[in-house]
Amino acid sequence: MISKRAARLRPSGIRKMFERAAQMPDPLDFSIGQPHFEVPAPVADAAVDAIRRGDNRYTVTEGLPELNAKIAAHHKARIGHAPERTMVTGGVSGGLTLAYLAMLDPGDELLLPDPYFPVYRELAEVLGIEVSHYDLYPDFRLRREALEAAVSPRSKVLLLNAPANPTGAVYTADELRMAADFAEEHGLAIISDEIYDGFVFDGPLPSVATIAPNSLVLGGFSKTYGVPGWRLGWAAGPDECIAAMTKLQMFTFVCGNVPAQHAAIAALDLDLSHLRDEFRQKRDRLMQALADPYGPVEPGGAFYLFPPAPAGTTGTEFVERALNHKMLMVPGAAFSRRDTHFRLSYAVHDDVLEKGIEVLLRMTRGKTATGPAS
Ligand code: PMP
Repeated sequence: MISKRAARLRPSGIRKMFERAAQMPDPLDFSIGQPHFEVPAPVADAAVDAIRRGDNRYTVTEGLPELNAKIAAHHKARIGHAPERTMVTGGVSGGLTLAYLAMLDPGDELLLPDPYFPVYRELAEVLGIEVSHYDLYPDFRLRREALEAAVSPRSKVLLLNAPANPTGAVYTADELRMAADFAEEHGLAIISDEIYDGFVFDGPLPSVATIAPNSLVLGGFSKTYGVPGWRLGWAAGPDECIAAMTKLQMFTFVCGNVPAQHAAIAALDLDLSHLRDEFRQKRDRLMQALADPYGPVEPGGAFYLFPPAPAGTTGTEFVERALNHKMLMVPGAAFSRRDTHFRLSYAVHDDVLEKGIEVLLRMTRGKTATGPAS
């Protein structure tokens, strides 16, 4: 017996590529958005120590008080004020699930970007939440006209994501002020997914929560510390909202992964600016190599590039062609109502990056469009 909601759900276009990679010997894998670096040693040690010490039982629903204090301090340092309340979640995916359940009823409308991180849309579908998209094409900037075109009397929540998946876009303080004013005028609550806050290349990351302190901010450890398998994230925001999310967590996820919570206390003390600088170098290299044939919009953060597919080719067709060169990417259609772009996750080692660039350059020259990579 399968519910209608489960039957409706489409398999993730990103995971499809991930599974294809598992079957292919030595692919050039630019598909899934996970860090190529290993967890920093002090963080790994803290997790192992916690397991050996016997810290393997439940914590309180909102997570270890010491970790919440560190999350609040991290938030304050970045956003400029202390959050009313914080909690530890099962990754940002868990945070999104709780936030949707806490803030939206079936039939309520959620404003999502297009392009978007796929979980935003599919999770809404599962929960019977209506989605209206605000368009970010062609340059992935936030515009008032796009928000106006998306909003309706049923709209309840505006979701923002920067640095963004799949575009790497970082919004300016002016764009965020416009979005905050727009939300206030229309009585919308704001969810801001800032999971890539550690990887911002050109100055500090402006947050909508600085301007609209009632925003719910979601953050995570998966990307910044190279631990996507640990399933750990956090939420910071209004007391009422975090209290509702905590109540929902009690009956769903119960609490965040406990050894990982202990490790996260150590993680938040680390300076990871060298990783941010490494990603900036990779971004610069890609922009320098691909600006001419592909014309991608320069990303300000995260580790994604979202170029348009060459003229006359859909994103899906282009990604399929790249498979002939053992290069894995994700078609824009996995993130969008359009199939015009493709996503490259450049969380890869430099030798893989160079091979990928070579394939992409060869593909626009069309020399070995159907032949295998040498
Ligand atoms: N938000 C965005 C924008 C993401 O790219 C991802 C992971 N790809 C997530 C949330 C989910 O991250 P996690 O559940 O691992 O914290």
